[in-house]
Amino acid sequence: MQRPIYMDCHATTPVDPRVLDAMLPYFRTHFGNAASRTHSFGWTAEAAVDGAREQVAALLGAEAREIVFTSGASESNWLALRGAAQALRERGDHLVTTAIEHKAVLETCRRLTHEGFRLTVVPVRPDGIVDVQRIAAAIEPQTILVSVMAANNELGTLQPLAEIGRLCRERGLLFHTDAAQAVGKVPLDVEALQLDLLSFSAHKLYGPKGIGALYVRRRGRRVRLVPQNEGGGQERGLRSGTVNVTGVVGLGMACELAAAGMDAEAPRLRALRDRLLAGILRQLNDVTVNGSMEQRLPHSLNLSFAGVQGESLLMLMNDVAVSPGAACDSANSEPSHVARAIGVPDDLARSSLRFGLGRFNTEEEVDYAIDKVVQSVRRLRSESPLYAAAGTKPLEDT
Ligand SMILES: *Cc1c(COP(=O)(O)O)cnc(C)c1O
Repeated sequence: MQRPIYMDCHATTPVDPRVLDAMLPYFRTHFGNAASRTHSFGWTAEAAVDGAREQVAALLGAEAREIVFTSGASESNWLALRGAAQALRERGDHLVTTAIEHKAVLETCRRLTHEGFRLTVVPVRPDGIVDVQRIAAAIEPQTILVSVMAANNELGTLQPLAEIGRLCRERGLLFHTDAAQAVGKVPLDVEALQLDLLSFSAHKLYGPKGIGALYVRRRGRRVRLVPQNEGGGQERGLRSGTVNVTGVVGLGMACELAAAGMDAEAPRLRALRDRLLAGILRQLNDVTVNGSMEQRLPHSLNLSFAGVQGESLLMLMNDVAVSPGAACDSANSEPSHVARAIGVPDDLARSSLRFGLGRFNTEEEVDYAIDKVVQSVRRLRSESPLYAAAGTKPLEDT
């Protein structure tokens, strides 16, 4: 077993070797610009981009002409939200989103409020799932767009996209989802979910960083977006800039592998995740799961360990790479907006870890992680006068 062990797949995933193999010829030999029309270098690159567009579309139940390549989910969110809001400004000025969105959505929406739009941020239930009734109640005559993420990046909770899609279609609203955590992990079909816009990044599904895509509906109704940059008019004028051919090829392969492997990978990761949880719960008291255990990504787990500081825990866990479960960022131990939104008490938020298992994790690694967590938590609890004083039984569970 090699260490450190990587269990932070919500942050990023390793590039699958098959993805890298698909990309290498486009660095070495086929390095052409996909927009070059006068020679075979350009044609070869363009054919590769077209092929990748088909692979991406196939994973999402979309058509190739509905896929726009971007630098990743952040840019896709920006283009989708700002582009759609500006295009629909005549129709209305109101946007609806949720309190647990990624900052790339929340901050883009907030920016739009400085540009003449109004925003309703819908709260979520304590289990980390948005209540469709609350979305429905937030809709006004002037509402133009609803944005709800597919899966939350801190909690791993899955949102009821099908119901929200139905609601948006009934009310004639655009429906956008930030699906960065869900694409390639759980089935997502833009037709079944009645999505109009979907954002994601390659690096969350074993592809390279700095490449992603935006699905923009054209079937049934054609979604108009105002482009957010100017230049050579690539990607049907929606995203100017020389296309990242190697990245696109990697994204395409990552999508094809995800489509082919999901049925086997999801249950394997769910079993590993459940083993991790069971192993920890068997040996430690006062552990709580943050977010619904039922509506959750299969590889995902977010736990709070009463009586320990997340930072100290992460330090002791040195050779198991996980993230704080609910801290804004490492420089800031304030509870995250997600932890606040689901009402996790601040001390429990500060004691939480997020585990993101992935394609290359093994049972042996999970068992190692269990031991590491259990030892680290026991040690910190035994050193914590506060935890002992709370009357719990930290050391009696062996
Ligand atoms: C990772 C992530 C993003 C941002 O993706 P980038 O590749 O950094 O642009 C946006 N939304 C969610 C939910 C994410 O998990």
